[in-house]
Amino acid sequence: MRRINLRERIQQGVFLLDGAMGTELIARSIEAGRCNDYLNVASPDVIFDIHRAYLQAGSDAVLTNTFGSNKYALARHGFSDKVGQINKAGAKIARRAAGEQKYVLGDIGPSGDFLQPLGNLKPDELKQAFAEQAKALLAGGMDGFIIETMTALDEITIAVEAVKSIAGDLPVFASMAFDKAGEDFKTMMGVDVESAVSKMVSLGVDVVGFNCGTVSLDEYIELANKYVSAVKAAGKNVLIYAEPNAGKPELVDGKAVYKVSPEEFAAAAQKICSAGVGIIGGCCGTSPAHIEALAKALKK
Ligand SMILES: [Zn+2]
Repeated sequence: MRRINLRERIQQGVFLLDGAMGTELIARSIEAGRCNDYLNVASPDVIFDIHRAYLQAGSDAVLTNTFGSNKYALARHGFSDKVGQINKAGAKIARRAAGEQKYVLGDIGPSGDFLQPLGNLKPDELKQAFAEQAKALLAGGMDGFIIETMTALDEITIAVEAVKSIAGDLPVFASMAFDKAGEDFKTMMGVDVESAVSKMVSLGVDVVGFNCGTVSLDEYIELANKYVSAVKAAGKNVLIYAEPNAGKPELVDGKAVYKVSPEEFAAAAQKICSAGVGIIGGCCGTSPAHIEALAKALKK
């Protein structure tokens, strides 16, 4: 059976995203320091296998391996001229893995730089860069777009505007990454949950969310509750999505290690869903085993 339109599908009950790509590549001993997104071109089979593993574990959708495929992030690897190639390749692999039944979301992450006056980015150039990425992804056949791990309101605004200018009728998800700041949650750039949600809602996204960050599983549950209240306060009926990490990373030999088991992750994710989050997946440290445990817990 062919999938129905994504916007309709997400209204029909829990929708399961995939887990991490980066930590899965590390687990498969893919050389550290290499440009993960260039693997779409250099080793498409590795990326295809990871997508397939998530789909077999129960994911309804996979995210393209293009988190760092805007021209600014690619420039750090000397690939700023390969935006089209890397995104098109990433879209093609995800689409091939998902087939006609499962969904593909075009993944867009931050530029890794700051807008003026804090940094050197000019708003119109940044907008152009996100639009360039979205266009290349769209050419590969997307069901929607997901803008994630954002920390600044000005950058997420530009990213959403750019993607919406390309996405046509396709749904757009947007999320920010929070850390615990005393009693509250704030992004690295000092944005609180209420400001993040009201901004994202005002930009007209279909789904607002949170992902990554350095908080514990219990704190993700607290964050989910805060999101539900903030969405209510914003007065619009938008859906919420969450991609928590497999807990807080611990430093072992200078490397971030995620120690939360699939069962612990699934139990916390279930509570996040009960709080009112309809779309759930995993960020750093989550594996197909985590998604499989979650799918089982949600009785999919
Ligand atoms: Zn993450």
